[in-house]
Amino acid sequence: MLYRKFKDIDVSALGFGLMRLPCLNNDRKQLDMKTVREMVHYAMEHGINYYDTAYNYHDGESERVAGELLNEYPRNSFCLATKFPGFERERFLRAPEIFKEQLNKCQVDYFDFYLMHSVSDSNITLYMDDELGLMDYLLKEKNAGRIRYLGFSTHASNDNFRLFLEKYHDVVEFCQIQINWIDWTYQNAKEKMTILKEYDLPVWVMEPLRGGYLATLAEDEEATLKAMRPYESIPAWSFRYLQQFSEIGVILSGMSTMAQLKENIETFSLFKPVSEEENEALLILAENKLAKTVVPCTACRYCVSECPQGLEIPVILETSNAYAFTEQISNIPRKLQPLGDAGDPRRCIACRSCESACTQNIPIAETMYKFGAKWKLDK
Ligand code: SF4
Ligand code: SF4
Repeated sequence: MLYRKFKDIDVSALGFGLMRLPCLNNDRKQLDMKTVREMVHYAMEHGINYYDTAYNYHDGESERVAGELLNEYPRNSFCLATKFPGFERERFLRAPEIFKEQLNKCQVDYFDFYLMHSVSDSNITLYMDDELGLMDYLLKEKNAGRIRYLGFSTHASNDNFRLFLEKYHDVVEFCQIQINWIDWTYQNAKEKMTILKEYDLPVWVMEPLRGGYLATLAEDEEATLKAMRPYESIPAWSFRYLQQFSEIGVILSGMSTMAQLKENIETFSLFKPVSEEENEALLILAENKLAKTVVPCTACRYCVSECPQGLEIPVILETSNAYAFTEQISNIPRKLQPLGDAGDPRRCIACRSCESACTQNIPIAETMYKFGAKWKLDK
């Protein structure tokens, strides 16, 4: 395992994201504990010492399970990261209560890394509100030793990103952003990296595979990459891409199977960043992919609770992407059928409530309309 120096610790370059753990019966709250335990054990045995959870992952189960499983190991053998769920004003008013609940669930006295979760255009005013006082509260917890390092994750526009850093750059110690070879240009991760460099802040990476989207490629795309490195797996390319940036510390991967975990650990046993030529080839692939793909949904699910129609938005968008090149669909896609009304884009009333919560700025209502319009048969 490769390690990165951060302050006084060596963190594993691969962090275990606990947001897409294996589940039973398709139920996000019902974790497959046998497999999760085996995966955490394997990760610990193979040098992963960074575990990333959050208040809302797996509807609250992720923190509980992190506590249960990591409690089997000495406290100084792993770094635990979790996040303040700053999605609603009410949560800011209950910050001390929520923080205590998180410590209890995770069965720890302190968090190694504590992040303000998903600072975005829709909640930045809450995060920066001095009267709500979240930052003061978190600094108090840091002074009391219950937070070792304070940071934030963000999907904010670059203007708001700058605003946040202007105010808090001297108290935050790291920043987690979405970088991969698609988002380098698509979400302008390049500019975020430049801004972070100005403030000399270490970068943590989330969504290196864009929610699994970059784990498999079309045949011609794979052939391009295989021609350059016949031995490299397709997911490994995304990690090799990130290895070229020395300012990156931990790269988080939300692994769902033992096979993914093993493959990623193998990838992170070697430092083999892409060459200039390989980097260029990836960026050209990205350009071509973006031109073809309908929407860049990462299945983060932040939009789902906003939908008054109860639509399974990420599943519908994933299916819509799968049909991106199909002009006509003669039947309801098989993947959506079992979802019933929740899987029917034609039920979208175009209220756009979901769009303000979307971390990827996807025109969801328009996509629902276009996808629904391709369906030829009624249920
Ligand atoms: S725009 Fe459509 S998908 Fe989005 S919240 Fe409204 S009904 Fe749901
Ligand atoms: S539509 Fe946006 S908010 Fe919803 S799951 Fe996809 S990326 Fe996340």
